[in-house]
Amino acid sequence: MAESRPGNANAGKKAATGAYTPSGVSAVARRKRSYTIRLWSIRHSRMLEWFYDKFSRFFLLLHPIWRAIGYNRVEWPIKAVEKRVKGLMFDCRMCGQCVLSSTGMSCPMNCPKQLRNGPCGGVRANGNCEVEPDMPCVWVKAWEGSRNMVHGDRILTVQKPVDQSLRETSAWLRVTAVAAAEKEALMSKDA
Ligand code: SF4
Repeated sequence: MAESRPGNANAGKKAATGAYTPSGVSAVARRKRSYTIRLWSIRHSRMLEWFYDKFSRFFLLLHPIWRAIGYNRVEWPIKAVEKRVKGLMFDCRMCGQCVLSSTGMSCPMNCPKQLRNGPCGGVRANGNCEVEPDMPCVWVKAWEGSRNMVHGDRILTVQKPVDQSLRETSAWLRVTAVAAAEKEALMSKDA
């Protein structure tokens, strides 16, 4: 019977093709459903880019409410929603410093090496990951997704290393707070 394990399905069949399949791969167990929805999101990156633009503007409009309640107090419920929505759509790992708009809607934290600035040298000939042979390389997909987007060339911007202290925090709220502060600074300069 064909061997079937998440992240390394049908290893025997693959070996017969000559593909290198290290044993015990798939440090992170992934579900097929995550791949399917994640790949859908990348295919529809342009629509999601448009949607996120509207969504972030709407969120910014709500800044007075967030401020009145307190950003600290709304962090927990907003984070819970963000985690569920982005977890489903992008297999989000809640790094707290989202770069989906710059990576073709392909979350770089799904790269087993968590590379934020492009692929390693180990991408397989079929475009899959060297660590997880059944998973398309996150960065190959990022490039494909970026080509559909209006601001897809943002993928060329060099990203900072991940700030681990921001893990499990809401990127939506952080982006909103930063945008609101910039807007207020601009308005006070003009006044
Ligand atoms: S970049 Fe970070 S916040 Fe954005 S989807 Fe990936 S893990 Fe989540």
